[in-house]
Amino acid sequence: MSNFQKKVIGILGYPLEHSISPVFQQAALDSVGIAANYEAWSVIPENLQGFLDDIRRNNFIGANVTIPHKETVIGYLDDLDTNAEKIGSVNTIVNRDGRLIGYNTDGQGFIDMLIKPLPGHQEAFLDNLAGMSILLIGAGGAARAVAVFLADAIGSEGRVFICNRTKGKALELIGLLTESGTRAEYVDELDIAEVVEGIDIIVNSTTKGQSGLRIMGEGSVTSLEPYSALGPASPAVIPEPEMEGTSSAKSSIFQLSHSDILRNFEFSSKILTAVPASTCFVDLIYSPLETPMLAQARASGHLTLNGRGMNIAQAADAFVYKALIQHLTDSGFDLEEAYQRVFRTMESIW
Ligand code: NAP
Repeated sequence: MSNFQKKVIGILGYPLEHSISPVFQQAALDSVGIAANYEAWSVIPENLQGFLDDIRRNNFIGANVTIPHKETVIGYLDDLDTNAEKIGSVNTIVNRDGRLIGYNTDGQGFIDMLIKPLPGHQEAFLDNLAGMSILLIGAGGAARAVAVFLADAIGSEGRVFICNRTKGKALELIGLLTESGTRAEYVDELDIAEVVEGIDIIVNSTTKGQSGLRIMGEGSVTSLEPYSALGPASPAVIPEPEMEGTSSAKSSIFQLSHSDILRNFEFSSKILTAVPASTCFVDLIYSPLETPMLAQARASGHLTLNGRGMNIAQAADAFVYKALIQHLTDSGFDLEEAYQRVFRTMESIW
């Protein structure tokens, strides 16, 4: 952490080697003329509390929070926004006079990506979400954020089916939604085809289709990259490769998982034959830009959207409406104008 008195804001996670946040966020600060440095804070879990105590006393504006601190950080904050509390995770911390407040902008970013004409785009992906039936695949951190905001947007006429490999997590999320009056039901990974007939939007919030190797602990890795979110996925797990061994590890996993990938695609294509042509497919994943689910949905005539817009929208929302709202207002900015400028800047670098 810097000791000089220039204001600082940064990304808090571990590890942070490949984060593009510092470049992307510094450009956004510069675009609105805020004299602050954007830093990368790679903090191991054991040092999280000490780090947060330090920044309370510093010239600290706030932080974007990423893996693995999004949930654990809550225990060390002074206050939580209502939605962040419901979601159970924080992606933005703001320092208000020495008090650290936690927010979560993932859900708002998701809704903005769907129904707001994003800067530089003529039209929104959808007009509105009121009364829609949604199939949400996944019940992890991102799914909770999306579900809480979706529930609000679809209203009492809408309906949500939640499908997750681990049923208990889906049921917990359904409990959270039904508590606030949303119609929510569970669907098993093997039974998606049975509910898709009346579904308006299918959303993938799992890591199925995500690029790269996934660390499974104890020196082993797997890959979900070849998988559609519409079918089950049990890829082979292999020992973690040496440096530079990513391609050969992916090749081994693909070969060892061949029959499982075929089964996944059989499920996925069967579901696509049962889905009405008007159903839209949305993936939270942005790497790759087109996951197997989106590629198959597009090839079968459906409207599709990846998670890039959400990623930029949640960052622009956190920047303008949470972390820097006071600085922007003090500088005489109209906040919507600042949002447009910040969004465009981030998008040009993303
Ligand atoms: P997470 O909390 O780890 O949740 C992972 C989800 O994937 C869980 O529902 C998990 O099911 C499911 N899953 C993992 N492996 C699976 C398998 N083999 N078969 C079936 N389901 C499996 O992760 P997250 O933070 O929610 O992130 C999920 C995805 O959203 C990531 O790809 C992330 O990059 C993306 N994301 C995008 C944005 C954006 O701005 N566009 C924002 C946040 C997240 P179980 O519960 O059964 O383990």
